[in-house]
Amino acid sequence: MRVDAAVARAARRMTVAGVEAPRRTALWLLEHVAGLSAAAAAASPERELGVPELAAFENLVDLRAAGVPLQHLLGVQEFHGLDFEVTPDVLIPRHETEILADAAIARWRAAGRDGDWIVDVGTGSGCIPVVLARACAGARVAAVDVSRDALRVARRNAARHGSEVRFVESDLLVAIGGPVAIVTANLPYVPDDEIQALQREVRDHDPHLALAGGPDGLEVYRRFLAGVGRVLHADGMVFCEIGMGQADAFAGIAAGAGVRVIERLDDSAGIPRVMVAKVW
Ligand code: GLN
Repeated sequence: MRVDAAVARAARRMTVAGVEAPRRTALWLLEHVAGLSAAAAAASPERELGVPELAAFENLVDLRAAGVPLQHLLGVQEFHGLDFEVTPDVLIPRHETEILADAAIARWRAAGRDGDWIVDVGTGSGCIPVVLARACAGARVAAVDVSRDALRVARRNAARHGSEVRFVESDLLVAIGGPVAIVTANLPYVPDDEIQALQREVRDHDPHLALAGGPDGLEVYRRFLAGVGRVLHADGMVFCEIGMGQADAFAGIAAGAGVRVIERLDDSAGIPRVMVAKVW
């Protein structure tokens, strides 16, 4: 089949299935299986795809039409300018989370001291600590996750980018001593009864463990905040990503745990997304 016909057919199939950006998706999948860039496909629409290439391409199109995230098919997601391996064992990095990474980097540049620790909790793919290790000169960076499978992916991502990160299998901060200058956390925060309403790509393909935040979405943060004061050094700071409408509740829980929210950073939709806090 000709490239243009294969792309047109794939785009139609994915349009019917309600996939976002069907034509661009078709081109990305084609590039993935046939090594043919969008520009090359446009320049030689008459090029014939071989039977194995076409079969592999249509297989990916079927999976995408069935709701498998593009990132799982390509095996990567970009975050903060770097490509990260993703698998079903880790949450696919979201662009909003770059706000958290940038805030932590700015804090390090303003107040970081050589040899101080930065710890990322619930690291998933490892996108946060890898970015921080590259951007925060002199910092020692550790990252924890309760999932051994996630840590395997995170380790590969650190190796891929030559970042020195110490990975620790731990339930939140249980295995961490201190003192730590900066703690970052994008913990599960989706309220249980909202999970069903998420897009199928998220609901069925991101790890449930990385999403489910209990009845009000803040159950994991409650446990985390109860322990974070123990590891932070006196002028340490904590940066947490939260969901829509959770800022006040988060600040209240933090205050009860001896942690004061000093700044709320909005995402591009104007929703408070990152909470910055210190010990009182
Ligand atoms: N931002 C993710 C979503 O709602 C949730 C990530 C999380 O729970 N930390 O799709």
